[in-house]
Amino acid sequence: AKSRGRSNYQFYDCKMNEKASARLKLENALRQAIEKGEMQLYYQPQYKLGTNELSGCEVLLRWFHGGELISPEVFIPLAEETGFILPLGKWVLEEGCRQGAEWLEEGVNVPSIAINVSAFQFRQEFYRTVDSVLRHTGFPPDLLVLEVTESALMSDVSRTEFLLTQFRELGIQIALDDFGTGYSSLAYLKKFSLDKLKIDRAFIDGLPDDQDDIAITSSILDVAKHLGLETIAEGVETEAQLNFLKAYGCDQVQGFYFSKPLPLNEFELLISSANDR
Ligand code: C2E
Ligand code: CA
Ligand code: CA
Ligand code: CA
Repeated sequence: AKSRGRSNYQFYDCKMNEKASARLKLENALRQAIEKGEMQLYYQPQYKLGTNELSGCEVLLRWFHGGELISPEVFIPLAEETGFILPLGKWVLEEGCRQGAEWLEEGVNVPSIAINVSAFQFRQEFYRTVDSVLRHTGFPPDLLVLEVTESALMSDVSRTEFLLTQFRELGIQIALDDFGTGYSSLAYLKKFSLDKLKIDRAFIDGLPDDQDDIAITSSILDVAKHLGLETIAEGVETEAQLNFLKAYGCDQVQGFYFSKPLPLNEFELLISSANDR
């Protein structure tokens, strides 16, 4: 590449530099996002199927940057690649637990709070982080749900078993997120101490008509019931999907049919009106 095609090489080099510098810029901005107050927690309500009682919420991170709302689909992978996911993930956990503890103090009937945990976070000293955050915020462990993905659990199975047992002793709940999309092994469902399976919205999407989605969703619900795991479906958008899930015995639901993820003030209105009922 040195002697021939020199100009070509420079051309690519230049393009790559452009891309790399845009990325570097975003990376630097991401690193400063917390201190600049650009990160916000949104809350999406979760309901018990059957009683329609508010049972929980999932915390979903939003980044307001340069007049734009940047999706977690963009910045979470970037945070994972750069290692920034560790301080960011800790901040989300801290902020969620702090907010939950504040609601409790204000006398609000607080639903469980589910926090997404990246594979990388889960592998690092995460148990100690959770333990310390629970202690200093005073948020009750039994109201905390950690949503972890299969890839987080599968990379080192014996360490995972140990970690999950530790979390269980702490009294928090563990939900297996995006269930069915990854490298699911049913055998591990039995082996790991999990509390909840979260059915990915990819499968809910085609309900109640798509034969594959019907087969996958009903099988997941069946297996979960036999193993004594709670089930939650995400991405519920229609009444027909809801009716299917009800008929097949899914425990909880979350999705645009009920509510999109809400900023703090709107979610507070929702939980305080849930209390009045
Ligand atoms: P996820 O954990 O699978 O979260 C569910 C995603 O589905 C959210 O997208 C949510 O807004 C969206 N959703 C919920 N109900 C519906 C629905 O009825 N229809 C449709 N079409 N979508 C629905 P969001 O908020 O863009 O988050 C994307 C992903 O980013 C999450 O997927 C999660 O993997 C990741 N993420 C978000 N916040 C955090 C965080 O604090 N930490 C980590 N590690 N990851 C996060
Ligand atoms: Ca407040
Ligand atoms: Ca999730
Ligand atoms: Ca998902």
